Amino acid sequence: MRLLIVEDEIKTGDYLKQGFTEAGFNPTLCRNGLDGHHLAMTEDFELIILDLMLPDVDGLRILTALRQASRHTPVLLLSALDSVDDRVRGLELGADDYLVKPFAFNELLARVRTLLRRGQLQPQADRLQVADLILEFSKHKASRNGKKLNLTQKEFALLELLMRREGEVLPRSLIASQVWDMNFDSDTNVIDVAIRRLRSKVDDDFAVKLIHTVRGMGYKIEAPEQHEF
Ligand code: CA
Repeated sequence: MRLLIVEDEIKTGDYLKQGFTEAGFNPTLCRNGLDGHHLAMTEDFELIILDLMLPDVDGLRILTALRQASRHTPVLLLSALDSVDDRVRGLELGADDYLVKPFAFNELLARVRTLLRRGQLQPQADRLQVADLILEFSKHKASRNGKKLNLTQKEFALLELLMRREGEVLPRSLIASQVWDMNFDSDTNVIDVAIRRLRSKVDDDFAVKLIHTVRGMGYKIEAPEQHEF
């Protein structure tokens, strides 16, 4: 089991590394945020233990970068007692658990094992479905009512984002950062153009429209109620 530990306090870092090694894990200890960020984004770990307060790139920034890059590695945050707001934000940003310092190693170990077990019980589903629209990841295939849709990589990613957050209105800025990995510039119409193309493939040939524009806010995918599929 490969673990990444990002912790700048020398004693705590050493203690965690030793503890996890003795418990049969294969921990990588990183003592600053910059290297932690790099490792978390480029290597595969089963779980990341992330200190919130780091002198350079803090834990929340690392967590945000991970989730924006659709890396779903479980993250357990370590935080000081007085940073309740950071913990709440951490959970909102996609952390799986947190522990307040100081803690007993046995408790951390138990939480790590629980998170790893949870991950094994709930593998990422291979498919997403909204009404008769289906995405199958292993086949990289999109279809509607059994008919294959020919999507580009970006269109596939865009559709995946909309479907994962079915019913939610997604602002252009969020779509830009998650699908194009860029900051949204309101002068560009790249999102609108992409949505138009995607919509022509997903909705044009079907009476029931799934992709909706919410004026002034963004886009969402939603199946109408009371419709039999
Ligand atoms: Ca720290």
